[in-house]
Amino acid sequence: MTVKEIISSTRSYNLHSHTQFCDGRADMARFADAAVKAGYKHYGFTPHSPIPFHSPCNMEQSQVEEYIAEFNRLKDEYRGRINLYLSMEIDYLGEAWGASHDYFSSLPLDYKLSSIHFIPVADGETMIDVDGRPENFLDKMSKYFDNDIRYVVDKFYERTLEMIEAGGFDIIGHFDKIGFNASHFKPGIELERWYQKHLDNVIDAIAAKGIIAEVNTKAWEAPVGAAPSQIATYAPRLFPSPDTIRKLVSAGIPVAINSDAHYPERISAGREAAFQIIDS
Ligand SMILES: [Zn+2]
Ligand SMILES: [Zn+2]
Repeated sequence: MTVKEIISSTRSYNLHSHTQFCDGRADMARFADAAVKAGYKHYGFTPHSPIPFHSPCNMEQSQVEEYIAEFNRLKDEYRGRINLYLSMEIDYLGEAWGASHDYFSSLPLDYKLSSIHFIPVADGETMIDVDGRPENFLDKMSKYFDNDIRYVVDKFYERTLEMIEAGGFDIIGHFDKIGFNASHFKPGIELERWYQKHLDNVIDAIAAKGIIAEVNTKAWEAPVGAAPSQIATYAPRLFPSPDTIRKLVSAGIPVAINSDAHYPERISAGREAAFQIIDS
């Protein structure tokens, strides 16, 4: 079954997860088990792809063979109970690296998920992960970006459009995620006109290419290990935001609701909330 067939025929799927092969907190077998218990018919593994430099969150190229072997073992073990899919969350790093590159076509992936987590510093090649926790993002803003939030947001969406144009993938992951950290730096930024224009441009580009847009529910609950005060004030989020989800749906863009779980106990967190928005 293709990913489009899966998401249009059932809600019993989850196509974005992280395990021992990147920054997930449990191994693939535990996720497969949790997926069966949660009643999924289709479950996809998407470790952060190898990239051409070291990152603590990404799988090394040398681990890929072991990842594929473990996948094949589990696929056989779970046959008849759940359909498991081999994939990766592939980083787009500009022309130098992304889902359209030969390396990824050479792997037996069932589908490809493509996301942006890194953007380059203003006048260099150094890539900075802008996807982590807000407190780290604030440090990076002063350390690498001269506190120029407009540069960071513009670059994120510029790279997003380039990634869509380059193609080679089925699903675009959490495409407005920079809004989360950018809002910590400058509250209200996502309501600004220029910011909204970026979102509209991405929606147009997704529609033109016929790819699937992910609704990512990872931030629906406060981070695991958050302090009680943080949990009490935590504002649940979806990527993209509810207004943007509605725009995707009215543009006729196929939408995949994924939990991007790093912990098996969070395997379904936020998915119901996302489906409610689509149904409303
Ligand atoms: Zn991601
Ligand atoms: Zn992810």
